[in-house]
Amino acid sequence: MKETVQQVWKKRPIIISGPCSAETEEQVLETATRLAKTGKVDMLRAGIWKPRTRPGSFEGIGTKGLPWMQQAKKITGLPVTVEVATAKQVEDALTFDVDVLWIGARTTVNPFSVQEVADALRGVDVPVLIKNPINPDLELWTGAVERVAKAGIKQIGLIHRGFSSYGNTEYRNAPMWHLAIEMKRRNPELLMINDPSHISGRRDILLDVAQKAIDLDMDGLIIESHIDPDKAWSDAKQQITPEKLGEMIGAITWRREDVNSDEYHAALEKLRQQINHLDDELMQILGQRMKVAEKIGEYKKNNNITILQTNRWNEILERAFQKGEKLNLSKEFITKYFDAVHMESINHQNKIMNS
Ligand code: PEP
Ligand code: MN
Repeated sequence: MKETVQQVWKKRPIIISGPCSAETEEQVLETATRLAKTGKVDMLRAGIWKPRTRPGSFEGIGTKGLPWMQQAKKITGLPVTVEVATAKQVEDALTFDVDVLWIGARTTVNPFSVQEVADALRGVDVPVLIKNPINPDLELWTGAVERVAKAGIKQIGLIHRGFSSYGNTEYRNAPMWHLAIEMKRRNPELLMINDPSHISGRRDILLDVAQKAIDLDMDGLIIESHIDPDKAWSDAKQQITPEKLGEMIGAITWRREDVNSDEYHAALEKLRQQINHLDDELMQILGQRMKVAEKIGEYKKNNNITILQTNRWNEILERAFQKGEKLNLSKEFITKYFDAVHMESINHQNKIMNS
């Protein structure tokens, strides 16, 4: 049975796959047919216009590739999605019945471009997916959502594709999961789809990233696939064959956010109450810590000493790392936690010293 884009939009999880770029008609059709055959894919993707970081690499096949997508849809019965960055691209994509449009990370960063796309969408009823901007800025991402929503688009989804950083890291684009979680918290009504391909930039960690996204209750995945990944004209290192894609989707452990068992709910409720009690205690202790900080502030004020004493601070952190290791707390967490506590302490001391 063929699913309409409306049915697919409501499906959980939504799996979108297809090549980074449409290259030739044969490549698009064969990828689509083989993806459909896995039975694991709900929508086909392909880049028609490619926003490349540096000029000279393959910049997309252009409008010529749109009939290929139309044909892929006809053969497989699957809805299709492509990236748009200009008014003309929106117009062309809609002429060729593209079902869902997506706004790429390099477009989301630019309010002029987002506005141009939004204006072209006025009066059109088409779902739009908005990728996070390349820099970790939730306001920019939110701004793009607002521009598209103001143009009258009712169905908006988000794609978390990670954030670019300088230098080599484990990821091509750091996932910064907390930002995706925060965006989802602020916009619970919007779909949140994860893009393991652009986060990973390589094949060997795709499944890990996909699993983490599903564990975080994301609504779906968009993963690039190619009939001959190593020979892909763009993003060759991160693409996998349609069959591998099928296997990977099969290998993910799907956990439900909610189950209807009373026993499960009762057990969970108990544990949640424990968490609430512990959080209350933590707050109490933090409040006490600030009171002590204020006393220190008074002492420093009376003796004319500066607030910040780097040596003492290093000593605190060192102690915390040592204790934390035994308690299974990561160095990253301890650093963040103590930074926040330290800042708050300084503010309390400062208030006293200037009173
Ligand atoms: C893509 O999906 O092929 C793409 C260009 O992604 P992004 O905008 O996330 O870089
Ligand atoms: Mn790509």
